[in-house]
Amino acid sequence: MFAPSSIHLEHSQRSGRWPAWAGATLAAGAVGLAGWRKHALTLDGAAAATGVGAVTLACGGLPASTALVTFFITSSALSRFKMREKARRGVLAQAKGGRRDAWQVLANGGVAAACLGSWGARGVPGFLGALAAAGADTWATELGLLARRPPRLITSLRPVQPGTSGGITPEGTLAAIAGAMTVGAAWACATRFGLHDGRAAPDVEQGPRVRPSAPAGHSPVPCRAAPRFALIVDILTTTLAGTAGALFDSFLGATVQAQFWCPTCEEPTEAPLHSRCGQTTRLTRGWRWMDNDAVNALATAAGALSGVALASCTRRTQGAAG
Ligand SMILES: [Zn+2]
Repeated sequence: MFAPSSIHLEHSQRSGRWPAWAGATLAAGAVGLAGWRKHALTLDGAAAATGVGAVTLACGGLPASTALVTFFITSSALSRFKMREKARRGVLAQAKGGRRDAWQVLANGGVAAACLGSWGARGVPGFLGALAAAGADTWATELGLLARRPPRLITSLRPVQPGTSGGITPEGTLAAIAGAMTVGAAWACATRFGLHDGRAAPDVEQGPRVRPSAPAGHSPVPCRAAPRFALIVDILTTTLAGTAGALFDSFLGATVQAQFWCPTCEEPTEAPLHSRCGQTTRLTRGWRWMDNDAVNALATAAGALSGVALASCTRRTQGAAG
């Protein structure tokens, strides 16, 4: 359906960008390899992380990549935080063990990367919302497991055993907010300190704030009007979007996510095979195919939609104010 001229234009634009893609793939591959060597990723997880990272860097530039790497490093660190205590309580968050595999990587980063890959700079609010949801959920899970009191189911608020999907704690909810805010703050700091290189900088996304003639990546303060205020608004909308995504994750966890019961250890688990004892478990709730990865992917999609909705609201408000 495309006119031939537009095909040629698109082709020449793409072929002109291959060095950027090669560089992005190399940089993302180095991070993926480091994650594999540090036992944070399986080998296929490292390959998936390379793909997600390459799309993020090539289409989103350095601010988006900074947010992604911040999410990756903090999530990996929190998974290991007080690991012995979590193991003692039998509530290790990672049903598949400490390393993230390709499905986990794609469930957490796939929607975010797809936003940038599909819409470039205009996909930034969706990217940030999705990534903040992944960060919020990971922080909430890893820190909520250490809560003193038992979690309550998000739907009925009745106390459930630690590790039950859909269970929330005050500590976990605060951690979710902090995790989402960290993703937004990483992006905002990288943007503020001139790390953007013009590809997915806020010039397209937020209109007249950025001088279009500013040399890419050279000006430490690339914004023309009220940059700090606008960036704080971006952090707040990202925090809200990510927290909404994480709450949606808990809601799905309490309703449709597959929940299994290990008869040997007499405890709930998210896996059809209990990681602790290797026993086959029995489905007690939800849909068998709706595993943690599927729920995570849906939650990041909810975060992306929230991010897009909030960004369009705040832009309209800022436009009306200016
Ligand atoms: Zn067991």
